[in-house]
Amino acid sequence: MGVCELCGRSEVETTVHHLLPKEMGGTFGATADLCIPCHKQIHALYTNEEIAVRLSTLRQLREDEQLSRFVKWLRKQPPTKLMKIRKSNERKWKGR
Ligand SMILES: [Zn+2]
Ligand SMILES: [Zn+2]
Repeated sequence: MGVCELCGRSEVETTVHHLLPKEMGGTFGATADLCIPCHKQIHALYTNEEIAVRLSTLRQLREDEQLSRFVKWLRKQPPTKLMKIRKSNERKWKGR
């Protein structure tokens, strides 16, 4: 359990995100602890190339329009209900 560096929620399960994707040379580079929904969302929206070019810092991730919209929504979700809500919302996200 930890704090997500993107949405700022605490007491969430976090995973390690390579700010510069490993495939793009970031194996030993900076990482961020992200909750699973945030982490999934980044990789669902962007390719490793896009991340390397314009989303390789936490600040750039926070300022990205689509991600900040997602984070806003995520913050409003009660942690316990998250799994359920995420499923019903997934279809909507895919169409964008
Ligand atoms: Zn998060
Ligand atoms: Zn990642």
